[in-house]
Amino acid sequence: MVVFVFSRKRCDDNAQMLSSMNLTTEVEKQHVRSFFAQCIQRLKGSDKELPQVLTMRELCLRGFAVHHSGILPILKEVVELLFQKGYVKILFATETFAMGVNMPARCVVFDSIMKHDGTEKRLLNPGEYTQMAGRAGRRGLDSTGTVVIICKDQSVPQPDILKNVICGQALRLESKFRVTYAMILNLLRVEQLKIEDMLQRSYVESDSLRESKDKRITLKDARQALGAMESIDCDTCSPNSQLRDFHDALFNFVCRREAIWPRLYEENVINKLVCSGRFIIVSNAAYQLQNECVLLVKELNNKTLQVLVPSKDADETSQKNSETAMFAKLPKAQMSWIAEENAMLSATKFGTRGSSQCPSNIRSFRLCEIPLTSVVAITKKVIKNIQSAEIFQEYNMSLIPRFRSIKIQMTKINHKYFFRDREVSENVKKLIQQISSSVSALRNKELETYSWKELGSFCQNLDLSLETDVMDSLENDLNIANGFPARHCTRFEEHFHILRERIKLERRIQGLEYELSTDALLLGEEYNNRLKVLEALNFVEKKMVSLKGRIACEIHHQELLITELILDYKFHQRSPAELAALLSTLTCQYNCGKELQFGSDTVFGQISESIKSVLTRLDAVAAKYKSQISDIGCEIRFDLMQVVYEWANGTPFYKIMEMTDCQEGLIVKCIQRLDEVCKDVSFSFRNAGRIVGDPALVEKMEEVSASIRRDIVFAASLYTTV
Ligand SMILES: [Zn+2]
Repeated sequence: MVVFVFSRKRCDDNAQMLSSMNLTTEVEKQHVRSFFAQCIQRLKGSDKELPQVLTMRELCLRGFAVHHSGILPILKEVVELLFQKGYVKILFATETFAMGVNMPARCVVFDSIMKHDGTEKRLLNPGEYTQMAGRAGRRGLDSTGTVVIICKDQSVPQPDILKNVICGQALRLESKFRVTYAMILNLLRVEQLKIEDMLQRSYVESDSLRESKDKRITLKDARQALGAMESIDCDTCSPNSQLRDFHDALFNFVCRREAIWPRLYEENVINKLVCSGRFIIVSNAAYQLQNECVLLVKELNNKTLQVLVPSKDADETSQKNSETAMFAKLPKAQMSWIAEENAMLSATKFGTRGSSQCPSNIRSFRLCEIPLTSVVAITKKVIKNIQSAEIFQEYNMSLIPRFRSIKIQMTKINHKYFFRDREVSENVKKLIQQISSSVSALRNKELETYSWKELGSFCQNLDLSLETDVMDSLENDLNIANGFPARHCTRFEEHFHILRERIKLERRIQGLEYELSTDALLLGEEYNNRLKVLEALNFVEKKMVSLKGRIACEIHHQELLITELILDYKFHQRSPAELAALLSTLTCQYNCGKELQFGSDTVFGQISESIKSVLTRLDAVAAKYKSQISDIGCEIRFDLMQVVYEWANGTPFYKIMEMTDCQEGLIVKCIQRLDEVCKDVSFSFRNAGRIVGDPALVEKMEEVSASIRRDIVFAASLYTTV
C-alpha cells in the first residue's frame, strides 16, 4: 500500500506514529535485515550509522518505509527495492514516488486531495491524481486496484469536485519551452541567425513544436471544412446576412444577461426579490427549460436556486430527469455550447422576458437546481408562506425506491399528484394544487415581470443604470416585430442550426490562430528581452558572441552569474572548500526558514556579499529589459554554505548533519548539482579560459570536485551495481 502525503514532514510523522505496529513475519525480517546490510555495506564507516539510515532500517524491519526528496538517494533505492519485493507493506511517499520508476501497489491511499504547490494550497488536478492513483493494482497479481481518499475533519469533498479530480480531463503535460541565455549564445555563435530561424531551430528540441504542428494541421482542416460548408439559401435569412445579424444581437443580449444577474443579486433589494415562493422565468439547458415559469422554493447560498418545475405527469418527469443525467456527462465545452444555444432559441421562441406555455393538466413536478445565470426574468407573483421543508421531504422520499408506490393505477391518475412515481401526501398535494392554479391563471394573460429599468432603479449601492439601459434597448431591438426579418423565416430553426455549425467552426479557427500567434509572440518577446540583457552585459557585442559569452555558453545553470563572478575575480584567492561553499548558493534548494546573518569578517560573510553585489547589478540590468537572471525556483540560497564548506573539508556526513536541520536527501542533491556546475566551468575554461589567462581555474574546479565527490553523497546507485 502506498500512502501519498504531500509534505515531507507529514510523511515522517505518519511513519513514526505507527511505531508500535509490526507488519512483517520473522522470515521477512530476516530478509530485510540481510538486504539492508548488503546495501549499506557499500557505505563507509560512520555513514552506515547515520540516524536516517538507522531509522529507515528500523521502519523497514516492521514493514513500513518513507520515500521523499529529503531521503538519501541510496536509501530511496533500498526502499524501492524492498517495496517491489513486498517487504515494505505500507509506504508513505510524496508525489515524486509516482513520477519515478514503475512501482505498482495493491492499494493507493490519499492523505488529502489538496496539495501545496509552492504558491498556493490547491486541489490535485486530474493529471496528478491519475498519475498517483494509477499505481493501484499490480499487473498479474491483482484483478483490481483500490484507491482510498481520506476525508479528515468530517470534510467530505463535494461530489462534483471529486468527480472532476477523478474523471476530469487531464491537463496536457506542459513542458514549457524556455529560451535560456546559454541557448541564445550558442545559437549566435554558430552563425548569424534571424530570430525566426532561431525560434524555429530551438523549437525543434521542444514539445511546443510538436504541439504547434498539431495545431497548424487542425487549423488547416478547420479552414477547409469551413470552405466546404453549405451556405444558407433563403430569401429571408441570406440577404445582407440577416440571420447573422439577428444571431449576433441575440448572442450579445444573452451574454450580457448572464453577466448582469450576479451583479444585481449583490444588491439587497433584488436579493430579497429572489425569495422562496416567487415565480421566476428560467432557461436552462441541463433541465431542458426554455423560458419556463417555475416556482422558487429555496435559494441556496452559492448563487444556486432550487425551483419546482411543473410537469405533465410522472412519465414526463422521469424522462426529463434521465435527459438531465445525460447532459451532465457531456464535455464542458459542449455543455456551454448547448446552453448558449438554448438561451438564444428560448428568447427567439418566447421573447426576451416572456414565458412558455405551461401544461394545463399539471400532475407532477421536478425539483431542479439552477444557477442564478439561468434566470430570464423575475415575475411579480409570489405565493406566501410556502412549506418548502415538506416539499423537500416528499422529494427525498421519492428518491428512495422502497417508498415509491408499487404500481400506479392509470385509471386514478387524474386525481393524484406525484413526485417521480411516488404519490405525494395530502398537504403537499394541496400546495401543488395551489401552485397549479396560480400557474394556470398566469398562463393566459401576460405574466408581469420586472423590467431591466425597474431592477436598475432598485439598486442602492451600485449604479447599474448604464447596463440596464443597454439591456432595455437590446431587448427592444430583439422584440419589435420588424426589427430582424430573419426571425420570421418559416424555416428558422433549420437555418439557425446551419449558421450555428458555421459559427462553431469559425470560433475554433479563431482560437487556434490566437494560440499559434501568442505562442510565437511570447517566445519572440522572451528572446528579444534576453538578447538585450546579453548585449547590455557585453556577452554579445556588435551581434557577435564576446569572449565572456563564450565562457557562459558552456555553463548550463546560472550561466551569467557564474561568468560574472569569475571575471570579477570572485573565484580568486578562494580555497576549494570556499569555492564549494560559494557554488552551493547556486544549487541549494533548502530554505531554513530564517534570515541568515554572516559577520562581514567571516568567509561566508564575504562570499555572500560578493555574490549579492554581482547579482544586484545583473538583476537591475535584467529588470530593465523585463527579464530575469535566475529562473523561478532557482534563486540563490545561502542556507547550505557552511554545510558544504565542512563537507569539502572532509568532515564526515554524520557531523555535518549535526550542523543543520536540512534533510539528508536535499544536501546530497545540492552537492551533486554543484559537481555538475564544476564540470561545466572547467570544461568552459578548457575551451575559452586560456585566452582569459587563468589556466589555474580549471585545476581549481577539479580540486573542488575532488573534495566533494566521496562517501554517501556519491554512493553508486543500487540499480546499476547490484
Ligand atoms: Zn431562412
